[in-house]
Amino acid sequence: MTTDYAERFPESRNGDTHRPYQAASDRYESGAFRQVGTSGLWLPAISLGLWWNFGDNVPFQNQRTVLRHAFDRGITHFDLANNYGPPFGTAETNFGRMMREDFAPYRDELIISSKAGYDMWPGPYGNNGSRKYLIASAEQSLKRMSVDYVDIFYSHRADPVTPIEETVGALDTLVRQGKALYVGISSYSAERTAEAVAVAESLGTPLIIHQPSYSILNRWIEEGLTDALKTAGMGAIAFTPLAQGLLTDKYLGDGTGDRSQSRFSLPDGTLSEKALTTLRSLNDIANERGQTLAQMAIQWILRDEVVASALIGASSTAQLDQNLAATEGAPFDADELARIDELSGAIDVNLWAESSDA
Ligand code: NAP
Repeated sequence: MTTDYAERFPESRNGDTHRPYQAASDRYESGAFRQVGTSGLWLPAISLGLWWNFGDNVPFQNQRTVLRHAFDRGITHFDLANNYGPPFGTAETNFGRMMREDFAPYRDELIISSKAGYDMWPGPYGNNGSRKYLIASAEQSLKRMSVDYVDIFYSHRADPVTPIEETVGALDTLVRQGKALYVGISSYSAERTAEAVAVAESLGTPLIIHQPSYSILNRWIEEGLTDALKTAGMGAIAFTPLAQGLLTDKYLGDGTGDRSQSRFSLPDGTLSEKALTTLRSLNDIANERGQTLAQMAIQWILRDEVVASALIGASSTAQLDQNLAATEGAPFDADELARIDELSGAIDVNLWAESSDA
């Protein structure tokens, strides 16, 4: 794993992950925080998700290097879910070890989230949106992560069979039990969001945040969801802003990518010529702006303030450093936005479209 950690933080030596962790004293100096809707919660403009690079597929010390570095650079929000790994549950277990060994003194500086909604354990009670599943899964997540509560708990996806009153009622219960401070929903359509908001309001526990997929290549939230969020006073944290790595320099060469892990939802082989041409044209715009493609992609999703945070993944500290500089880019001008609009409709890869409409 590449890291310039020791160079950047010689005094704390946090790059030597066998040494006790002490957070960098300047961790809040450059970070930008943004308000989540009308709530009292503020998130870093860039948050880190543990979906794919923090399971038992990656050496623990590598994970620890990335997470320590993230917190040292002002990333106060780590996003998890019951099924992150692989295998399922291991991202939370590995994170739990880091909570105990590294981050326990900083618990009150951290926003830790988890979710339930996708397949987690066998049988009818380990999937979807029932009260039985959500409450049991939240309990398991707290144990795996060695925390007493999560800051945000999400219904991971809409369940068309379970009544929305039951799913949102389970979120309300978790707040009342002190197991979650805030609650939210992920990948719900604009219509389902409005229904969930109404139920939550009737229970007195607001849904403050929605976690949708959103990127230059996947703009479904602009067709109704962002308006629904603004009406409800909710904020968004947008996942997969780099289209799982497509919107980085990984594919710009021959289109095969240079991946830390092979991911199930990425196209297996080489990208189509059309897709590659589009990515290269987007990269040209980024370079004209003095940015990398990844930096431009992140800054672009933050252009509407309803998006409180860009929820990225990263397999190295170098990726994190590059991505964090996204917040320093010049504002987009109208011409750049128009060129990006044109290109975003020209690519034939949309990783999350199907699961973003429940
Ligand atoms: P992403 O930010 O679109 O993609 C991250 C991947 O892009 C990294 O793992 C890395 O690939 C590559 N990358 C990142 N920065 C790079 C850079 N500067 N240069 C080159 N490559 C770079 O996000 P994601 O990992 O798909 O998802 C992010 C988070 O969103 C997840 O961890 C999870 O918390 C959340 N999420 C939520 C849902 C949901 O249903 N709510 C679904 C998916 C994700 P390599 O690892 O190959 O180096």
